[in-house]
Amino acid sequence: MAKTIDVQVNAKHSAELKKGYPLILKDAILNPAVLVKEGSLLRLVDKDRRFIAKGYYGVQNKGIGWVLTRKEDEEIDFDFFESKIQAALARREALFADPDTTAFRVFNGEGDGIGGLTIDYFAGYYMVSWYSEGIYSLKHHVYGVFDKIVDYKAIYEKKRFDTQGQYIEQDDFVKGEPGDFPIIIKENGMQFAVDLNDGAMTGIFLDQRDVRKAIRDHYAEGKHVLNTFSYTGAFSVAATLGGAIKTTSVDLAKRSLPKTIEQFSVNGIDYEQQDIKVMDVFEYFRYAKRHELKFDLVILDPPSFARSKKYTFSTAKDYPDLLMDAIAITEKNGIIVASTNNSSFGMKKFKSFIEKAFTDAGSKYKILEESSLPKDFRTNRDFPEFNYLKVVILKKLK
Ligand code: SAH
Repeated sequence: MAKTIDVQVNAKHSAELKKGYPLILKDAILNPAVLVKEGSLLRLVDKDRRFIAKGYYGVQNKGIGWVLTRKEDEEIDFDFFESKIQAALARREALFADPDTTAFRVFNGEGDGIGGLTIDYFAGYYMVSWYSEGIYSLKHHVYGVFDKIVDYKAIYEKKRFDTQGQYIEQDDFVKGEPGDFPIIIKENGMQFAVDLNDGAMTGIFLDQRDVRKAIRDHYAEGKHVLNTFSYTGAFSVAATLGGAIKTTSVDLAKRSLPKTIEQFSVNGIDYEQQDIKVMDVFEYFRYAKRHELKFDLVILDPPSFARSKKYTFSTAKDYPDLLMDAIAITEKNGIIVASTNNSSFGMKKFKSFIEKAFTDAGSKYKILEESSLPKDFRTNRDFPEFNYLKVVILKKLK
């Protein structure tokens, strides 16, 4: 392993790091020439060379590495990784013990003490995501810890660190007994088909677990539901199991049709009674307006950026317009579930988008619920920027 390198950071960043901020920022480094090999362990010092923290060098979209410890005498070695992973597993004991939920996050990056690394659990299988070359070079520790303390069927991994921070296509199997995919996982009694060796995505976004449950338990009964950017239709499944009269799922990707049929089917739902549309959401809004279609529950969970033939969409800029489209086809007293995973703005700004959309639409609303990441996606409350998920469930009053 590379030797520990002394890295000097500027006064502003020193202060932030001392308060517990975990991300190492490129612009704050006073001697960047020392950063050569990803995976190098860093000793962060202030301008007077006083110790602040230890971390590692690993380039991500945001930041060039993560703080690992603030204790000068703590070694970053196998024991370090074991103690962090052990603690993370212990925090999820209630989830491991819950027979109705067999898929959740077991290690959430900096929230569990090691930025750039996440681990998800899927019914005995583990999926490890590596967000930089640097953390990936430390993988022997993580897989060593698995062999020592984790009882697993198999491990799969996702490398998310090519030059654009994108997923690197490969066979993702690491070790164990290969799974026969899709496997069926449970989430609050709902079932989902999951494939851990089929590209970057698994079929289900675990961070929306609480929202699926809320939709099923509180908002779906007797409703006509529109699920936009529906992917594999997980929200539509939740709504149907909650007693929705009918769901309409809209997604541009061709794969969404067979995947949505599959998710309905593993839950014993007749997909032919549901609408699954492979089309541009923005086209669908125009179609719905033309035909005067209205829905009682509209779900909006767009990607941060989307580009189709006709439209480009960026949540940070266009969410108010998206909401206006949704408002226009939502019944009076209907519900809108507005969600975004864009980390570049916070809840306050997201709520200002909602306010703007309703004002511009000449409509009124009431917020019923707001939420962010579920508990297993552990984040430090002092630094909300890492809690990227923002969900507002609201009622259209007029
Ligand atoms: N809401 C989903 C996840 C959405 S992922 C869930 O909870 O499971 C984002 C999805 O948006 C992708 O499936 C992508 O195909 C789709 N998408 C992107 N741009 C789109 C567009 N213009 N119209 C319809 N779907 C789009």
